[in-house]
Amino acid sequence: MTATAHGYPRIGPDRELKKACESYWAGRSTAADLDAVAARLRRDVWEDFRAAGVDEIPSNTFSYYDHVLDTALLFDAVPERFGPAPRGEGAGEDRAAELERYFTLARGSDDTPPLEMTKWFDTNYHYLVPELSPQTRFRLAGTKPLSEYNQAKGLGIETRPVLVGPLTFLLLAKPAAGAPEGWSPLQLLDDLVEVYGTLLGELAAAGARQVQLDEPILATDEGRERTAELERAYAALGGRPRRPEITVSTYFGSIGTAALEALKRTPVERIGLDLVAGPEAADELAAVSGLGDKTLVAGVVDGRNVWRTDVSAALARLGPLLGLAREVVVSTSCSLLHVPVDLDAETDLDPAIRARLAFARQKLDEVVLLGRALSADDEATAAQIASARAALPEPEGFRDPQVRARLDALGEVPVRNREERWNGGGERQVLPTTTIGSFPQTAEIRKTRSEHRAGRLSDEEYTARMRAEIDSVIALQEDIGLDVLVHGEPERNDMVQYFAERLGGFVTTQKGWVQSYGSRCVRPPILYGDVRRPEPMTVDWAVYAQSRTSKPVKGMLTGPVTILAWSFVRDDQPLADTARQVALALRDEVADLERAGIRHIQVDEAALRELLPLRRQDRQAYLDWAIGAFRLATSGVGASTTVHTHMCYSEFGRIVGAIEALDADVTSVEAARSHMELVDDLERAGYRRGIGPGVYDIHSPRVPSVEEIEESLRSALRAVPADRLWVNPDCGLKTRGYTEVEPALRNMVEAARRVRADL
Ligand code: GLN
Ligand code: ZN
Repeated sequence: MTATAHGYPRIGPDRELKKACESYWAGRSTAADLDAVAARLRRDVWEDFRAAGVDEIPSNTFSYYDHVLDTALLFDAVPERFGPAPRGEGAGEDRAAELERYFTLARGSDDTPPLEMTKWFDTNYHYLVPELSPQTRFRLAGTKPLSEYNQAKGLGIETRPVLVGPLTFLLLAKPAAGAPEGWSPLQLLDDLVEVYGTLLGELAAAGARQVQLDEPILATDEGRERTAELERAYAALGGRPRRPEITVSTYFGSIGTAALEALKRTPVERIGLDLVAGPEAADELAAVSGLGDKTLVAGVVDGRNVWRTDVSAALARLGPLLGLAREVVVSTSCSLLHVPVDLDAETDLDPAIRARLAFARQKLDEVVLLGRALSADDEATAAQIASARAALPEPEGFRDPQVRARLDALGEVPVRNREERWNGGGERQVLPTTTIGSFPQTAEIRKTRSEHRAGRLSDEEYTARMRAEIDSVIALQEDIGLDVLVHGEPERNDMVQYFAERLGGFVTTQKGWVQSYGSRCVRPPILYGDVRRPEPMTVDWAVYAQSRTSKPVKGMLTGPVTILAWSFVRDDQPLADTARQVALALRDEVADLERAGIRHIQVDEAALRELLPLRRQDRQAYLDWAIGAFRLATSGVGASTTVHTHMCYSEFGRIVGAIEALDADVTSVEAARSHMELVDDLERAGYRRGIGPGVYDIHSPRVPSVEEIEESLRSALRAVPADRLWVNPDCGLKTRGYTEVEPALRNMVEAARRVRADL
């Protein structure tokens, strides 16, 4: 029997990698210290695999920062601004220089901007984008896969080195500045494949029997169109005389019959398919009459979510595949990078909820059990399967008939009760100034929150301190002269977790960390059951803030799509249904805010674009439910309440129509860095409501001048009439300090004044 996983979390059970990197960056530890932590983390992962009984263990799944960056370095695909590679590898000075270059690529330095970072397909992991040009000369410039293989071998563990595949690497890369118009990194395919070939030769010489090349790009429309290149690359790699057996693994969706046929024609030995994100892969496999003499690596254990696998359903899915390949190896649907490390670290979970969960460590047991069930027929396995099949107890509050009944009664998308207007009517400032919600989260605020959480601060004292913070944030905004104020969100640890902690149907974890990028980890809440709102979540803070000023205070909520995008969500019903439950809870919150006298309500949908499906054919259905959920949350308000929404990005190409359909009165977006193109796009798409294109970039500590902001505003006014333009920074201010925020907002208000004077 054979069982494996495509990859594993690299941060360590206690975020050891984060701590080691941050200490190294701060100069508190040496390169040797960092390397030692890394070597230990790798060893522990391999030992976990071995202890679980997984017989095919991956290596080279570790990374100090990002595996795409590792790949670029491995093949010397490094832009000139980072200088040449230090000579020689290994210990001492050279190692420190090597690490410095590595982390400069990832994080930049005073005078060198880092590689751009972007989302890894439709996950919350972010990778660094390689920059390639016709001048790029690939060569094998590193030994990482080889040395990790050798490290494991030294421990008596045979592994399968994992690499980003050449097609995926090139299609994820971008042309470097100055590359000729129309040039594509894909033009480097043959050169790159040649160097991969050299690497495969070295791995074979070191004794590696298997290698895994990841081609998730085949799950996208763009990748699917490249069957000719796919076939060419793997025909060439497969044709190398000395090489390990090649697994081409694909994930995040099915790859279609054309790519399957193309891979079938190449000499690669094994093909990995994701049967969780792309269950239709089974039909595609049948449609091409199976893989012939190749092995199928069947991804049936969900690598993206935290639910325990339904073993009987997985077996039912695996059964028919047995006849469609020479052999079937049971695997996870993708790397386990996207789930927390170990459920055993959670000590506070309701046992009925825990019984439904499996983190990375537990998923290894699942692939092993499934692998055994497929090949063996012994009693112990049968008993394990039977117990895994036993019906799970329903956790407290798993089902809420009242929520379901209310949703049925509400029907599809309720129509907003309002007149033809966009801003709540009444008298108001032209070019109103506002912010996106959060004000700087000072060390003191964070300390107050954590002391309260730990029980060292009474509720009364906590409330008093938070109110004092709100007082000062309100006073500052009045002094600066902003028009629509906010309370500043000091009570929020995170824009999703705050709500998850207050809604029924969610649990949060203690150590359920997942890498987002580099050393940054997030701890997504788990949405396990029907969502309900036991009591108002934000009203007291908003009402208090409103009581301190005669200017309007904007209530602040996180939207249903964003709450889902940044949580692990139950998979026993369509996402659309779960979104409606979250939306209903928010709808009640909106109504309570309004009843309490809050006249502006912002519902942030930072992740609306993030959840957009990889395939064009799936996008409309997604947008329909996403928009429906937003409207369900916001459409209950009266005609004099202004609904705002905020999105943290500006490339709306694919969803510009959706913004209109959200039916918010005002949309604020991140436009500071895109020179107002977005405003143009929106106007062209027929958007006729309020818009607040961020007039300065809060992601940088730089304070923008009045003139710059003025210029920004005037350029926006070329696309949008003054009565629909709002003036705001491009995102929340929580990551900034007051020394930057205060002058920046003063300049923003002054710029708005000057522009108004010329209207
Ligand atoms: N209201 C949130 C804030 O200001 C929005 C955050 C976000 O867009 N990511 O922090
Ligand atoms: Zn934002």
